[in-house]
Amino acid sequence: MIRTRFAPSPTGPLHLGHAYSAITAHDFARRHGGEFLLRIEDIDQSRARPEWEEQIFDDLAWIGLTWDGPVLRQATRRAAYEAALCSLSDRGLLYSCACSRHDIAEAASAPQEGVEPIWGPDGLIYPGTCRPPKSNTTDDRAAQRLNITAALSGRSTIAFQELAADFKTANNNMTFASQLINNIGDVVLSRRSGDAAYNLAVVVDDAAQNITHVVRGADLLSATPIHALLQHLLNYPTPIYHHHALIRDTDGKRLAKRDDAKAIAKFRDEGATPDDIREMVGLPPRSNL
Ligand code: GLU
Repeated sequence: MIRTRFAPSPTGPLHLGHAYSAITAHDFARRHGGEFLLRIEDIDQSRARPEWEEQIFDDLAWIGLTWDGPVLRQATRRAAYEAALCSLSDRGLLYSCACSRHDIAEAASAPQEGVEPIWGPDGLIYPGTCRPPKSNTTDDRAAQRLNITAALSGRSTIAFQELAADFKTANNNMTFASQLINNIGDVVLSRRSGDAAYNLAVVVDDAAQNITHVVRGADLLSATPIHALLQHLLNYPTPIYHHHALIRDTDGKRLAKRDDAKAIAKFRDEGATPDDIREMVGLPPRSNL
């Protein structure tokens, strides 16, 4: 049984890019008699707002999407994230890091003056300042990072299946260990606030919701090898992925939540129909499903 999901953060209005993602995941599941689940990624409680959550439900229902089972809220999932962290920590795969963004930026550019620091899916590649045995931070407000080299434990590649745009052809997407080490690095799995970081929470939740196919934007493709590695470490199955092209505005810029101009609510207010929204993002009308 195919199970997809849509996992928005309730930190702003849904825009056309979200509509495209949600409709694509929904229609794919429905075409195959599968299930479509909803998850509210509200782990960052300082930014999540109940009114945005309400607006998400309202917009999705208006577009004509239906979802199965209860909505999963990340704010209720702390114990599950903690258990996953403990399992990694017990195997010595995590270390505490007390570096601020500023510390990381300084250390990342220090070794070779003039060489641009490398950006990964999770910000600047961590230069390893707090990685044991070099350091052993005992700061109790420290973040927890995955020691990527230890986590790979001699594996030379990490692979996952990526479905092409036709949703039929699957490619084996292979990342070499050296690319994980150099282009992703020691990602944060638990923040200084004690909250689980996205890269951990998404993996724990996709497994808990038995997601078979993750449909999401191409901006997350570069983080997927880390998700596949965590799934392997936590003994979870790796779902099949489909990273779709991003919907951009007329200037070619990616739509951001702050960009209210393309908010679904705004098109609704202006009298657009759900099929108009589908057409705007290049999807067929509902009757053609
Ligand atoms: N919460 C993420 C977002 O709104 C989605 C992450 C995912 O689909 O894995 O961009």
